[in-house]
Parts: sequence; structure tokens; C-alpha cells
Amino acid sequence: MTQASSPTPSSSFSTAPGLAQLLGGELAAIDRAGLRRALRRIESAQEPVVEIDGREVLLFCSNNYLGLANHPEVVAAAVSATERYGASAVSSRLISGHMSAHADLEDRLAAWKRTEAALVFSTGYQANLGTITSLVGRGDVVVSDELNHASLIDGARLSRADITVFRHNDTAHLEEILRDLDNRGASPTALAGSSDTGAARRPRVLVVTESVFSMDGDHAPLADIARLTERYGAWLMVDEAHAAGVFGPAGAGLVAELGLTDRVDVHVGTLGKALGSFGAYVAGSRVLIDLLINRARAFIFTTGLPPATAAAAQAALEVVAREPERAAGLLRRARDLGAELGAAGLRVPHMESQILPILVGEASDTVAAAEALLARGIYVAAIRPPTVPAGTSRLRLSLMATHTDEQIARTVAAIRECVPGATTVR
Ligand SMILES: *Cc1c(COP(=O)(O)O)cnc(C)c1O
Repeated sequence: MTQASSPTPSSSFSTAPGLAQLLGGELAAIDRAGLRRALRRIESAQEPVVEIDGREVLLFCSNNYLGLANHPEVVAAAVSATERYGASAVSSRLISGHMSAHADLEDRLAAWKRTEAALVFSTGYQANLGTITSLVGRGDVVVSDELNHASLIDGARLSRADITVFRHNDTAHLEEILRDLDNRGASPTALAGSSDTGAARRPRVLVVTESVFSMDGDHAPLADIARLTERYGAWLMVDEAHAAGVFGPAGAGLVAELGLTDRVDVHVGTLGKALGSFGAYVAGSRVLIDLLINRARAFIFTTGLPPATAAAAQAALEVVAREPERAAGLLRRARDLGAELGAAGLRVPHMESQILPILVGEASDTVAAAEALLARGIYVAAIRPPTVPAGTSRLRLSLMATHTDEQIARTVAAIRECVPGATTVR
């Protein structure tokens, strides 16, 4: 074909706005709404004091709750596993990427959680996607707390199950939903009874909640939720991302602390927060874990965790088990800090964990307070819509066991100066 006989290029293509123009417009809209976010570069380890733009800043928004990310034993385990196994698992776990470091960690995790078995995923995000999509599908129902983490929401959406949301920690609402589903004939019999034969089966109901919620650090009413899931024959999945390492015997989580281990079908937690490493686990029955190995696409189609990461997580579990005072001290100081902020006239609706919310109200006031704090060398998170409802924007303080009393006192003083509504120190 000659140039002349070929159809002229469609003018709608040639005049269509390019990628830079379109995305630039979208970014400008995000900017105008005051919602533009950017990365902030941390130039040192996740210690209470970090370096940002060459300046020392007190860090109050890290998940390094127990200071384990740079604990000498955890770092040494990572170094020695790297020397022994190399820098990467290089392959999917189901091909050649399942290494002793993974197997040892999974044995340790199952013993720690007191479950039959455990499986490590590359991230908590993937663990939730892979698990929910393996357990439920079209025609089933995921019943989800309204404040559940994005990874739980995305997993439920990807599963194609129907999603029903219950009001945050509202067990009366949860019961209403479960009773309604039960009347419609939706509820599973036993987890082991899943069938791949395509035969018609009763729709499954999977109730999903966090144990310690990431935004406010408040606790789910797990005993009541477990009673309801049992009564209505639903399965229960609990994400302990912010509880693992901090609550329970040897840091095994809030479910373990409440003695509910055997009443939760699917236990999830991350190794990348209090445990100072990376990756995540699912723990439960052997049949659950074997099913995930066979069906969870987020496990199957991804490279295994680096051996150094697995070894670091295992070392962190040893430190947590040996030094329960780390978590106990963290929670005690968080309660003290919450009480002190409350006494200063601030609204701290929850002080049940190492995460302390300070309610401010308007998004712009919250961002201004966070900026004023950063100007004073204190880095806290500003949480605003759509993460929380309009008018309930808040600062979120994440305490670390390694913060000193002096650092906490300095932060309280700065908060009293920067957050509207606080009584100022004279
Ligand atoms: C952080 C978090 C995750 C994701 O875990 P990653 O290992 O960081 O991917 C999942 N669920 C909850 C509740 C979380 O807070």
C-alpha cells in the first residue's frame, strides 16, 4: 500500500489529548480538592528520630511499634540468611522458590498462632486478596465492617461475591444481616466441605473484620462476632495487622488474647508492622492452608518472599516471645499519652492500642495542624476523607516502644500548641 491509498489517520486520534495532558488535568483536580499526596523521603532507619530533608524529625507515624525493624537480632538474621540463601527466592513458591527459610517461618507461625498450619504471602495486601478470592465467589456473600482495610475490600470485590457492609463494630447490625442471609438460605456448613465439582451448594457467608482497627486503634467485639458467626453458620476471617506482635501471649494477637483462636476460621496478620520485617501470614486449619496453596492466585503467581525477610520475621517472633515487656510497656505508655491528651482538652475517642486518634474535624484544619507539627519537627499522620467521613478528620499518632519519655513530652507540648481546641501550656 502506498502512502496515498492508505486511509488517512483518524483526526480524532491525532487531536486526542495525550497522556500527559489527561493525567495532568486529573492531578490538577486532585490538587484543587486539597487531596494531592506526595512521597516524603526518609533518609535513615525507622527510629523515633529520622532524617527528612536533612533535618531531624520525631517520627509518630511509623508501624515499627516495637522497634524491631532495626533490632540487632532481626538485622543479623536477615544478613545471615542472605549470605546462606542469596538475596531472592527468585521463583514462585510452587516452582523452586520454597526455601527452608519459608518452611521454618511457617512452622514457627503455626506454633505461635496455635493453629494447624500457616502460609506466608508476599504482603498483607496479597494475603487478603488471595484468601478471600479462594474462599468465596459469585453467589456467596462477604459481610464486611465498614472500616475494613482497602485490601479486604479489594479482595471481596475481586472475589465477585456480594458484599454487605455492617456499621463499624455494630454487632446488632451484623446480626440483622446474618439473620436475613440465613432466612434466604445462605450459609456454609463446614470449611472443609468446599467442593470443586461444580455441584450446586449453599451460598457461603464470610464475615471479615480487623481486630485492632488501623485508623483509630479500637478493638472489634470479637467474642460477640464469633458467637454470631457460629450461630448463623458463617465463616470468620480476622485481620490482625495492627495487633500481631503487640497483643496476646507472645504477641500472637488480640484473638489469642481473648481465647478465641479456635473460633476464628481464618487468621491474617502482617509481618511488616510490629514484627519489623515484610510479608504476611494466613493461619488456620491444614485444609485451609492446602487450599490456599492450590487456589490463591496472589500466592501462586508471585515470587516467594526473600529469604532474608522470612528469617528477619522469625527472629522478630523470638524477640517478641522473649521480651513481653516491649509490648506491655508500649500499651501502658499509649494509655498514659491518650489520657494526657484528653486532659489537655483534646478529643481522643480511643486509647485501646498503640494507635491514638486525635479528632480535629475539618480536613483543612487537620492538615494545617499536621503541617504546624512538622514545622516543629514532629511527624504525625493527617487522616481525612475519603479515608474517614467528612467532618471527622483526625491526626493519628502511632507510638513506638522505642520513643523516650522526653520525646513523648515534647510531642504533647507541640500538639497543645498546634491542634485547635487544646488548652495551651503556660
Ligand atoms: C497494613 C495492612 C494490611 C496490608 O499489609 P501489608 O503487608 O502492608 O501489605 C492489611 N490489612 C490491614 C488491616 C492493614 O493495616
